[in-house]
Amino acid sequence: MPPEKPHWSHLYEEVVTSGLCTGCSACVVACPYDVLGYDHDRRYKPFHVDATGGADDCTHGQRGCTLCTRACPRFREWEPEIDQHLFGRARTDDEVAGIAARVVLARASDATLRAAGQDGGLVSAILVWALEHDMIDAALVSALEGDGTGWKAVPAVARDRAGVLATAGSRYTYCANPLAYAEAIDGGAERIALVGMGCQASAPAVMTARKAGKVARRFVLSIGLMCSKTFDDAIFEELFEARYGLRREDIAKMNIKGVFQVWTHEGAYHEVPLKEAHAWTREGCTSCPDFAAEHADISTGGIGAFDDWTLTVVRTERGRELFESMEADGTIEVRPGDDDPGAVALMRRLSRVSRKRWPVTAVPMPGRLPTAQPA
Ligand SMILES: Cc1cc2nc3c(=O)[nH]c(=O)nc-3n(C[C@H](O)[C@H](O)[C@H](O)COP(=O)(O)OP(=O)(O)OC[C@H]3O[C@@H](n4cnc5c(N)ncnc54)[C@H](O)[C@@H]3O)c2cc1C
Ligand code: SF4
Ligand code: SF4
Repeated sequence: MPPEKPHWSHLYEEVVTSGLCTGCSACVVACPYDVLGYDHDRRYKPFHVDATGGADDCTHGQRGCTLCTRACPRFREWEPEIDQHLFGRARTDDEVAGIAARVVLARASDATLRAAGQDGGLVSAILVWALEHDMIDAALVSALEGDGTGWKAVPAVARDRAGVLATAGSRYTYCANPLAYAEAIDGGAERIALVGMGCQASAPAVMTARKAGKVARRFVLSIGLMCSKTFDDAIFEELFEARYGLRREDIAKMNIKGVFQVWTHEGAYHEVPLKEAHAWTREGCTSCPDFAAEHADISTGGIGAFDDWTLTVVRTERGRELFESMEADGTIEVRPGDDDPGAVALMRRLSRVSRKRWPVTAVPMPGRLPTAQPA
């Protein structure tokens, strides 16, 4: 039998329509024939646009193109495959938050980056450093559309410090940052960093592990954002405005620290219980097992006792080299993770919770915790 060449029809059946698809958009970006589109409104899912293949098949796939399945961080044995590729081994059952070289607290030394950042401004500091040290040409990040008052998160390209500053901070609706890839390439970028939640942060690694061609080679850095879930855009009108009178245009900043924290331009502060927000959970997050952005070079989160520090997991050799260079030249300040044992414990607990979401009917994950099995 000739070897199987899995393509769009396999991805469609096994991931897109089975409930595993996170909407990360990696398949769309990797498709060399531009026959995959992306539904930005509410569904956040890829779809096939080629009339000759139909919604569930692809004529290029029938002729041997496999790039969409090579790019998908939820296709078949993605987790052990990427662990093996990045770290040379499978994770142990104890490594619920993924394989880590260092767990620390870090923040930008530059006060402007720190003020713009969601937590310690570490992600922004990394991007600025990588751009200014000729490591990357561009970063795929998330911006707010237009003047920002609509809080609509859209994929964007940051090419310099000003671009990084303009896109710092967190939005809690989904933003498929990989979709900014085409704009980065059009602007001449060859070495690209991707910032994104775990679903997106695994894409560069899976593409490299499965040899997804030029796109894989261009992603030279993956910065992960820890994430339990994202919300549908309708949460603004249907929850924040309807129940709390908070209109989109009045909101200055949001954060999630056990509750939804909302600051208004007038300086008022509101808390919205997360329990109330659950009804607006984005469908693509409901089967996601990855809280800690387990395949990023460096993963970052905001949990813990110190608001202006970023909980940081340095994972890969590339991440370690970059992080240590920034530490050595004073670009960032670093404290041991032991300064906030509660944050590290919470990261592990939230990772365990997320891992229980991976359906038992899906491809079994070696190393999956017994708690993920049916009762
Ligand atoms: C949707 C979402 C959920 C999160 N959930 C948690 C959580 O449950 N627990 C936790 O500890 N941390 C969570 N985080 C991570 C946290 O909010 C910070 O992003 C992280 O601590 C880095 O902070 P920083 O100051 O170093 O980053 P910054 O310097 O502020 O940089 C943040 C980067 O994230 C990008 N970004 C912002 N919003 C989005 C988005 N919606 N989609 C893709 N990219 C985006 C920005 O463009 C920027 O490049 C979440 C982040 C997001 C975006
Ligand atoms: S998880 Fe990502 S790569 Fe996989 S099918 Fe969904 S959008 Fe495409
Ligand atoms: S929970 Fe976060 S990491 Fe998982 S699919 Fe949703 S946005 Fe992506």
